[in-house]
Amino acid sequence: MLNNSSEIFQLSGDVSNKIAAGEVVERPVNVVKELVENAVDASSEKITVEIAEGGLNLIKVMDDGKGIFPEDIEKTIDRFATSKIRDINDVYELSSFGFRGEALAAISSVCDFSLVSKRKGYDCLELKSSFGGQPVVKPAAGIEGTIVTVKNLFGNLPARRKFLKSSSAEQREIVKFIRHFMLTNYHLSLRLIVDEKEFFLFPKNESMLDRARKIFKEKKIVHLTNKYENLKIEAVISTPEVQKFRRDSIVLSVNGRVIKDNMLTQAVIQAYKRLIPEGKFPLAAIRLDISPSYMDVNVHPAKLFVKFLNSGEIFSFVYDSILEKLESLTPHGYDSDNY
Ligand code: ADP
Ligand code: MG
Repeated sequence: MLNNSSEIFQLSGDVSNKIAAGEVVERPVNVVKELVENAVDASSEKITVEIAEGGLNLIKVMDDGKGIFPEDIEKTIDRFATSKIRDINDVYELSSFGFRGEALAAISSVCDFSLVSKRKGYDCLELKSSFGGQPVVKPAAGIEGTIVTVKNLFGNLPARRKFLKSSSAEQREIVKFIRHFMLTNYHLSLRLIVDEKEFFLFPKNESMLDRARKIFKEKKIVHLTNKYENLKIEAVISTPEVQKFRRDSIVLSVNGRVIKDNMLTQAVIQAYKRLIPEGKFPLAAIRLDISPSYMDVNVHPAKLFVKFLNSGEIFSFVYDSILEKLESLTPHGYDSDNY
């Protein structure tokens, strides 16, 4: 009945899911990131990512991880359903990438979605759902692990699709994310297939330096590690003669999670201050390991940013670690007369 004195309505679950999906999956690269992180959370060592048309036509992530119990398969696409935390305090003791239980709910509401999974000793099942419609679960054939297939991404949201860049630009973003992720998660093997051709294959258990040589395609790089109380850094940084034009040559990660962080980027830039002119940047891959209780990863839906409890201390630690390494590269250290 029409009521002239009320205009506020509860949105249906379907509409609110699609709105919420926008925070998690804005572009194909966000889907790739969520699926790859899920694979790693499931203890996979070998991951295959396949994309077609910059992910707009196809994104497929296959893993050799622990798989999903048949009883849980439908829950994977429920919003706020997760196997990774039970309580809000668990967020501060987190050892997984995921915890919000939102990604598959968001992704499956904006594509033709399929998830095939087999847990050791259990049946293999496939769950299918189209643009957030009623899911269908059927027996399937498959080996241990999980395969998620995303087709026709944003097919139901023409407005969002319109905002995307060209498929080659979306592809570049995906390749960049995978490169950055593999720099810091160098123990993992990943194969990327783009438009049916192998794009790259990283073997398992490489050293960070070997991985960085391949990804940066630069020989003038050095490896460093350092430790202070509950902080650990492992990094590969370029020698000062390498000077890049863009600050995204500095790749940052915390506990394996690739993040953006102005404070950490500045710590790297400042360490090179006397060696590299302003406006130019070194190559750097930084892997920080911090106790989860010293940061908050729950400040951004796509988890691209984190909040540090003691950012001053972390700044100094990263700055000092890099400076010390740079100074060790020449017998007398770098002094301002020479640089
Ligand atoms: P989150 O990762 O935050 O828990 P997701 O929506 O990404 O939320 O995934 C929901 C749940 O589905 C996960 O908690 C996990 O139990 C299961 N899951 C998703 N992807 C995989 C995978 N590749 N292998 C095993 N389990 C998975
Ligand atoms: Mg997840």
